[in-house]
Amino acid sequence: MVLKPEDYLYRIVDSSEDAIIGEDIDGNITLWNDAAERMFGRARREMLGQPGETLVPPALRARERQLIARAARGERIEHYETTRIATDGRPLDVSLTLSPIRDRDGTLVGVSHIVRDITERKRIEAQALHLAAVVQSSDDAIVSKDLDGVVRSWNPAAERLFGYTAGEMIGQPIRRIIPVDRWDEEDDVLRRVRVGQRVQHFETVRQRKDGSRLPVALTVSPIHDARGTVIGASKVARDITRQRSLERESRRLGAIVDSSDDAIISKDLNGVVQSWNRAAERMFGFTAEEAVGRSITMIIPEERLGEEDEVLGEIRRGGRVDHIETVRRRKDGTLIPISLSVSPIVDRSGQVVGASKIARDLSALRAYATTLEQTVRERTAELERANTQLESFAYSVSHDLRAPLRGMQGLAHALLEDYGPTLDATARDYATRIVAEASQLDRLIRDLLAYSRLTRIDVALERVDVGEAIYDALHQLDDDIRTSGATVEVEPEMPPLRANRAVLVQVLTNLISNAIKFGGERPTVRVRAEVLNGTARVWVEDQGIGIAPKHQERIFRAFERLHGADRYPGTGIGLAIVHKGIERLGGRVGVESQEGKGSRFWFELPRAEAA
Ligand code: ADP
Repeated sequence: MVLKPEDYLYRIVDSSEDAIIGEDIDGNITLWNDAAERMFGRARREMLGQPGETLVPPALRARERQLIARAARGERIEHYETTRIATDGRPLDVSLTLSPIRDRDGTLVGVSHIVRDITERKRIEAQALHLAAVVQSSDDAIVSKDLDGVVRSWNPAAERLFGYTAGEMIGQPIRRIIPVDRWDEEDDVLRRVRVGQRVQHFETVRQRKDGSRLPVALTVSPIHDARGTVIGASKVARDITRQRSLERESRRLGAIVDSSDDAIISKDLNGVVQSWNRAAERMFGFTAEEAVGRSITMIIPEERLGEEDEVLGEIRRGGRVDHIETVRRRKDGTLIPISLSVSPIVDRSGQVVGASKIARDLSALRAYATTLEQTVRERTAELERANTQLESFAYSVSHDLRAPLRGMQGLAHALLEDYGPTLDATARDYATRIVAEASQLDRLIRDLLAYSRLTRIDVALERVDVGEAIYDALHQLDDDIRTSGATVEVEPEMPPLRANRAVLVQVLTNLISNAIKFGGERPTVRVRAEVLNGTARVWVEDQGIGIAPKHQERIFRAFERLHGADRYPGTGIGLAIVHKGIERLGGRVGVESQEGKGSRFWFELPRAEAA
């Protein structure tokens, strides 16, 4: 078949990919090709004669009319991007080319519209813009290079990370940021990319503009062209300085945890073990592999399970548990005593996500304490035995000394009484001194016996009327009071004490006799009581020579005497008896004094009502 030239043209128009629409000078459609049918979804017979403007969104019509007017004046409007309406009302992105149609005489008869659907192109453009924005805003450095290693793109994060601007790097070899000793590595990466492989999370080092080195993790992927040929590579680089230092820190902590002698365990809030150090392996017999992922209850004896709930409750509230002593079960079933501290593990937002436990094995400590206690008990018993022996020895010695002493005293007295007038002065003096020395020895033995009896006898506690005890003491001191001319004032109201009458009389006798002895010329002694909470203090006060504070403690020990024996006869045992006696009654003694200002001795005992 032979085509006429105009048919030939029609065929071309119909085979076009672009919609070709002709309009007359009134704007009515005169030509509607196959592509127009496809693009707008309307048949030719439906559209011919219709106003072309129906395809234009109303808002754009005025502007379109101006363009058509320009085309009618002979101008060609090319690739003008605008919008059309498809049959279903959808907007279509199109590129429009308008040209005038003239007849043979050159008279304008209409305008042709060549309409190209650019929806897909627009979509790709939008996608590219979106990608570019992502690349621009990425925190990772994103860089692309061709297969010769020349940089093609360089995002703001790359600028920040490496210190070079995009202007400085695009067109330059990527080697600028690769330390010389790593160039081989780069060659290797490029080789792999050329054959289409991807290199992921490759940790290496890059060099900044200022020469400093930067640890980075790289992901390198090939860039393909439309035909699938590799034309370059994209690199994503992440700064891992912080990650590295975190890794170092966690290795360091790990080493500390592992070298600890205490078991260090972490668990989540459900009690599932998350970590288990070497000491935990040794202490509980489970390896880390066995323990991690299992419930912590595997080392808790059944009867202690409630304890674990309490601890977890405390931890959930953000609290901690310090040094509780408890018991755990080893893998072999044996129990071990431990001291446990538990603290919460919080995440970055401050939320409690688990607990860390530190457990110390107390077995060794317990065993040591038991041996120590045992030793102390044995030693104390030994000492007590030795002491009793010594005391009973002293008692019998003192006792046995008394009999010959009595003999000596009797004979010396008889010598003076019966033969006094016949003796010469020297002999009489010797006999007098024998009598004096013998009675000093007698006092000493008497005091020693009293002291030793206090340590040996069981002191029965009873209700003691202090007033009566004082009366007994004064009765014993009759001679002393008379010869010294002392005045003893006793407060009338005295609270009853829980004590032992004999001991109390002895204590009071010693204190009052000292007050008379060290109380100066014609001494005044005052005895009074002070009622305290549940106890009472009895004071024996004088206005005599007093005691310097530095000596006040030692005078309560046996044989400690501060003043010359020639002026103040005594044995140095009186206050030791006071101290021992009050101690046996469960009370305390003390003194307040200054030299030359008198002394106030006191003892404190439970009151009888309160006891
Ligand atoms: P002594 O038999 O010497 O009195 P004590 O044990 O009773 O022995 O007293 C020890 C020493 O404490 C005395 O020698 C004396 O130096 C001092 N002392 C005791 N009571 C008084 C007091 N009321 N005033 C001053 N000094 C005292």
